[in-house]
Amino acid sequence: MRDWSLAQWQAWAAEFDRLRGWDATEASQVVAHLTEELGEVAREVLRLEGYKEGAAEAQAALAGELADLLMMVFKLSALTDLDLGAAVAAKGAELEGRFEVAPSREETRRFLEARIAAAEARLRALDAGHPG
Ligand SMILES: [Mg+2]
Repeated sequence: MRDWSLAQWQAWAAEFDRLRGWDATEASQVVAHLTEELGEVAREVLRLEGYKEGAAEAQAALAGELADLLMMVFKLSALTDLDLGAAVAAKGAELEGRFEVAPSREETRRFLEARIAAAEARLRALDAGHPG
């Protein structure tokens, strides 16, 4: 198994595509493929959560779709000559500064309590025989 850095995967994607002539594609085409893969990720998450059938197989399938999505990110990064590793490191630092732990946990608690209340209201409406 390859335990590579983002830069190494980006370089791998660049070479993979160059050897096949795929580096001649437009960035917008890679974005279209990336969007396609994101839809496949969404489908597997819906299955994993039980909204669609196939929850037992969904986790392995989700891993494959996330890998597809990441490959498209590596391809797009390579095609547009940006430093994905540096961008991810900068974003991680930005997020740590922006979202402190305690306030974020409190916000999550309020969100979950609101979701529970909404679900209970929908259940009462369902039981009463009319839409919530
Ligand atoms: Mg896929």
